[in-house]
Amino acid sequence: MALSFACNASILPQQVKVNSRSTKYLQNVRNLVETIGIPSISSSPDESLRKGNWVKLICGASFEDVVDIRNLSLVYTLAGVDCIDCAADASVVSAVNEGIEAAREMLGSLRRPWVMISVNDDEDLHFRKAEFDPDDCPLDCSRPCEMVCPANAISLERKASSEEEFTHFIGGRGKLQVGVITERCYGCGRCFGVCPFDKIRAVTYVRDAAATSQLLRRNDVDAVEIHTNGRQTDSFKDLWNNLEDSIRHVELVAVSLPDVGDLTVSVMKTIHSIMDPHLHCYNLWQLDGRPMSGDIGRGATREAIAFAVRLAAVRDRPHGFLQIAGGTNSHTVSGLKKAGLFQTTSISGNWRGEMFTVNSQQALIGGVAYGGYARKIVGRVLAEMQSHHGLAHIEDYPNYVFKALKEALLLVGTVKCYNLPSHLL
Ligand code: SF4
Ligand code: SF4
Repeated sequence: MALSFACNASILPQQVKVNSRSTKYLQNVRNLVETIGIPSISSSPDESLRKGNWVKLICGASFEDVVDIRNLSLVYTLAGVDCIDCAADASVVSAVNEGIEAAREMLGSLRRPWVMISVNDDEDLHFRKAEFDPDDCPLDCSRPCEMVCPANAISLERKASSEEEFTHFIGGRGKLQVGVITERCYGCGRCFGVCPFDKIRAVTYVRDAAATSQLLRRNDVDAVEIHTNGRQTDSFKDLWNNLEDSIRHVELVAVSLPDVGDLTVSVMKTIHSIMDPHLHCYNLWQLDGRPMSGDIGRGATREAIAFAVRLAAVRDRPHGFLQIAGGTNSHTVSGLKKAGLFQTTSISGNWRGEMFTVNSQQALIGGVAYGGYARKIVGRVLAEMQSHHGLAHIEDYPNYVFKALKEALLLVGTVKCYNLPSHLL
């Protein structure tokens, strides 16, 4: 089923007046970026992949809150990410590009990160939305769905829907309203299991190939990521054939796949053979460990690292950079270091009783993509700003830019090896 979801229009208030305090914060932001020496000023995204210090911000294949997306893109552009991955939706792509340009206006010399759109070839966890009818919810439900949602995508208010109900409202009548805020739901699934009345459904969708082709022709879209489930490749082939001409317009094609054990490398080979005749740009394999879980805690990153260790040890895997995702967070780089895989071109070990060594011209693991965790740490600042100023461009409140940038630098800096000032640590 192909669906399209309406997005919040970017209807934001006029720029606020700049005062001397905000000028000071703006200068602090500039000083911070200049002191650290953000490498994206001088090096390109493909160089980062070769060196193993590529960082991608995942806005979310289904996350479509354009106000947050714009502000997240601004903050992470300042922090030096190489790529921003977003939903394959025209207004979302525009929001990402607006955020990038606003960051570059603030600093002037920043290189533009690549903008990537994410699509799927079949049903996939990243391409679904939660749905329920709040009218069906018992009024005395303790609303665990609302509490468990990491995206604040569920909002339930008790409201009287008629004058007659209003008179009984205090007595417990009325209805729950709002429900799932579709553009904020990114399909993590955490609300599904907590509803004691089994009211929540998942609505899955597949991005439309013709609409994707159109987006790929835009000159502000640089890359595409195709999510595939790794179980069969026919749907990948169909999508690839439908996208064929438009693929010529991008710098990078990424394929995101889960670990399907011993089948993984053969699936990658089949996919590569499908792409190869029309692949005239870089290609990357996104090793998706534990999808949409980086914000849960330290252990969430283990599966992505184990996946990377397995793939890095394969000598005859198909061409393309390797990048990890799915459960990535502030512990990911220390996990990669422990596994001997951080920014290295060589790995040795024992695989099923046999010693092996794999050498590569470039970093074995090109970098890390951060999703839920990256959105959570900056999202807290965005939520605070919104509670004081409503929907706003973050650059209009440079104190919040400074606060959000500190959070982003602490995360991006783990991969980019920033020398952060002690007051940030
Ligand atoms: S699926 Fe996840 S993001 Fe969507 S409403 Fe449920 S908990 Fe929130
Ligand atoms: S937990 Fe279930 S019944 Fe309760 S408010 Fe949420 S969706 Fe409705």
